[in-house]
Amino acid sequence: MAPLLGEPLESAKDAPDLVAPEPEHCPGPTSSQAGQSDACAGCPNQAICAAAPKGPDPDIPLITARLSSIRHKILVLSGKGGVGKSTFSSLLAHAFASNPRSTIGIMDADICGPSIPKMMDVESETIHVSADGWNPVWVSDNLAVMSIQFMLPNRDDAVIWRGPKKNGLIKQFLKDVEWGEMDYLIVDTPPGTSDEHLSVNSLLKESGVDGAVLVTTPQEVSLLDVRKEIDFCRKAGIRILGLVENMSGFVCPKCTHESQIFRATTGGGRELAREMAIPFLGAIPLDPRVGMACDFGESFLDTYPESPASVALRDVVRQIIQLVDP
Ligand code: ADP
Repeated sequence: MAPLLGEPLESAKDAPDLVAPEPEHCPGPTSSQAGQSDACAGCPNQAICAAAPKGPDPDIPLITARLSSIRHKILVLSGKGGVGKSTFSSLLAHAFASNPRSTIGIMDADICGPSIPKMMDVESETIHVSADGWNPVWVSDNLAVMSIQFMLPNRDDAVIWRGPKKNGLIKQFLKDVEWGEMDYLIVDTPPGTSDEHLSVNSLLKESGVDGAVLVTTPQEVSLLDVRKEIDFCRKAGIRILGLVENMSGFVCPKCTHESQIFRATTGGGRELAREMAIPFLGAIPLDPRVGMACDFGESFLDTYPESPASVALRDVVRQIIQLVDP
């Protein structure tokens, strides 16, 4: 039987439901210092945190055991929405899966805006539960997907959840999904640095995340948020595999003239990567067929293997493989 969204989520020890944002030097609502450190003085959450259960999450060893059969775990992050993070995650999954000897999973942790099932053409699927756990939805023999979308009774239903409930679901995705033996698990996260990122990071720390790929577009408004994402990764101890600039230039398919639709006013992703001392993995051009392929749930790489976007993407993928599997 498929799990239903309305059902209470199993959570042995979730973070307490806070009434205000955590202050800057918050020790963490479940840390041993919660409610007691200097930063807690005057915080509206103090009493809630002081009463919350303390110590390491007892589910972490279960998650670590469950994910021990997955060789590499890669997070895909972006500072802003709409820069092509989910598109990149789906292209990366297809690219990895083009090796028939590899098995790939993609976990859609964008709980409020799940788009991976649409991009993978499995939107109407539901999750089945076996004795071993929740079974992901298989797109092909070697490519599986797990998303909250599969639990929504209606495709257009909004998921309006506060942090602790979102964290509970992410924990269940990590603890209860029976991925089996896999070479890569790609985790598509929501934009920004929010509850979901903190949960994924703290729950996966022991399992070992290989690193994060950051996706941006060339404009400064997008790069601004990437700087925050880089800072988040550094503070959280997540290795940055590199930065990908998406929607980088447009080559007209008719006249082959190249235009910069989103101009890199401050040097774009390449300059930012240099400035922040992180690898620049490549620039993927705008191509309307990328959007079309995603809307129809097709693999752009298979349909247009010679396009400049496919060529650029394959180069990015080659570098990611080298970084995680040197
Ligand atoms: P995000 O996950 O960052 O919110 P999406 O992956 O949903 O962004 O992409 C937003 C839109 O941009 C989608 O319609 C997608 O098809 C389109 N898109 C992404 N990358 C490209 C590209 N390189 N060329 C053309 N369209 C793209």
